[in-house]
This record gives sequence, C-alpha cells and structure tokens, in this order.
Amino acid sequence: MRRYLDWQIATVKSIRQETPKVKSFTLALPDWIQHKPGQHYDVRLTAPDGYQAQRSYSIASEPERSGEIDLTVEWIEDGEVSSYMHEVLTVGDQIEVRGPIGGYFVWEAYMGGPLLLIAGGSGIVPLMSMIRHRTATGSKVPVRLLYSSRTLEDVIYYDELMKLQGAKDGLEVFHSLTRLTPAGWAGYSRRIDSQMLVEVAGPLGSKAQAYVCGPTLFVEAVANGLLQFGLTPNQIRTERFGPTGSN
Ligand SMILES: Cc1cc2nc3c(=O)[nH]c(=O)nc-3n(C[C@H](O)[C@H](O)[C@H](O)COP(=O)(O)OP(=O)(O)OC[C@H]3O[C@@H](n4cnc5c(N)ncnc54)[C@H](O)[C@@H]3O)c2cc1C
Repeated sequence: MRRYLDWQIATVKSIRQETPKVKSFTLALPDWIQHKPGQHYDVRLTAPDGYQAQRSYSIASEPERSGEIDLTVEWIEDGEVSSYMHEVLTVGDQIEVRGPIGGYFVWEAYMGGPLLLIAGGSGIVPLMSMIRHRTATGSKVPVRLLYSSRTLEDVIYYDELMKLQGAKDGLEVFHSLTRLTPAGWAGYSRRIDSQMLVEVAGPLGSKAQAYVCGPTLFVEAVANGLLQFGLTPNQIRTERFGPTGSN
C-alpha cells in the first residue's frame, strides 16, 4: 500500500492558462489518495546530472474528484520549479509528486463555520479547494472570501468565483486590487487594512474560523489585523507561500 510520503509518477492530463502568469495543471495519479481541502503536494524535478529541486504546491481541486488533482502554479521569474512547469511541462509529460501533505491548514464541511477566507495572489489555491469542496458536498456554511490581487487580470478563478457567488447559497466574494483598477471598479482598491477586515469579517460574528494564505508578509499583516479585530489565535489558521509580500 502506498503511503502519502512515497513519491509517485503523475501524468499531466491537461493544462489551463488561468491568468497571464498562472497555469493550472491536472495531474493523473496512479496512487491517488483522497485529500483534505487545504493540503498540498510536493513536486520534485531531477536534472540529468542528478540535481534535484523540490517545492510544495497546494491542491486546488476538491477531494470529491478521484484519481486526479489540480495544482495551480504562479510563474516566478527565475523560479526553478515554477518556470519549468510553465515553460517546459506539456500534456502527456510525467512528473514526480508526493502527497497529500499537511493536517493543520485544512477545512472539511463537517467542521462547519462561518468561514472567513483571506487570500493574497496564489494564496487563493488551497482556499479554492475548500470552496469547491463546500459546493461539491452541498454545504451551506456561510463563507466570506476576501481576495487581494494586483490587477483584475491577475485574479485567479474569477469567473468560477462569480458563478459560485451567483448561486446565492452563502458564499460572498470581496476583491481588492492593489495596483490597477478598471474604470467603474466597485470592489476595494488597496491593501487589506483594518477597516476592510471590519467590513468583511464583521457580519460573520465572533465565532468565525479564519484561513489566511499568501506571501509571508501578507499573511503576517492579515493575521495581526484579525487579532486586533478580536479573533483569538485558535480561530486563525495561516499558510505562508513564500518570501515576498507584494500583493
Ligand atoms: C505549503 C505551500 C504551498 C504552496 N502552494 C503554492 C501554490 O499553490 N501555487 C504556487 O504558485 N506556489 C505555491 N507555493 C510556493 C512554491 O512552493 C514555490 O515557493 C514557488 O513556486 C517558487 O518556487 P520556484 O522554484 O519557482 O522559485 P525559486 O527558485 O525557489 O525562487 C526564485 C526567486 O523567487 C523568490 N520566490 C520564491 N518563492 C516565492 C513565492 N512563493 N512568491 C514570490 N517569490 C518567491 C525567491 O526568493 C527567489 O528570489 C507554496 C508553498 C508552500 C510552502
């Protein structure tokens, strides 16, 4: 029997361009194990001379889809693994992965809510797995998503989020654009601040469970803001993706 920390060879089933800098990869897994929304996989690349590079990528898809997972990867200039996945990997290629990994930054429908999801850039990925899982299970847990992106074209899963919100089953989406806003933009247009947290989190009340994911500095700033807002540390789960905080 395969254990989740064993490496396996996944096959790239399809690739979707989500935004100019972000692609989603559907990977078919010979030894699929059902994941929990919020978990990640490790991807390992091996060069002909034996040099290896390994990075973590959150699972974007819902656990109800069996035999395959979606990873959504942002292209980072000079990034060893992300640029390989964007520039070299094509449908039918094979890639080494292991997972699902992680037990803390997870949410499953039985855990209830209300949920406050806060994402910066590609930090939306594990939160999207939670949202898709909520839809797949028919959960009606109230969810408010606050999602910070640089520009409108950088918003990942924009159409899907609009559609899910349109179902009016308790999911509300709030975008903030930090660099450029289109004419007539009705959402927020600044970095997440305490006023924004009050407006978005306030209606969920004092029992909300918060999940915050994105660049390291983004996560730290938002988590501090949530503590000031009045949530307790055990109501706030965080996942840090990397060194920058420029969303
Ligand atoms: C648990 C976990 C889950 C993650 N999930 C995702 C995901 O779903 N999608 C995704 O795109 N990324 C995700 N990441 C980030 C990912 O693991 C890599 O760090 C990222 O893809 C960069 O790797 P690289 O090899 O391309 O760049 P590297 O070769 O490692 O770095 C190249 C340059 O980019 C900078 N850099 C490294 N990481 C980042 C980053 N995250 N943001 C900005 N600059 C960076 C470095 O400082 C360096 O200057 C996750 C990280 C963790 C820890």
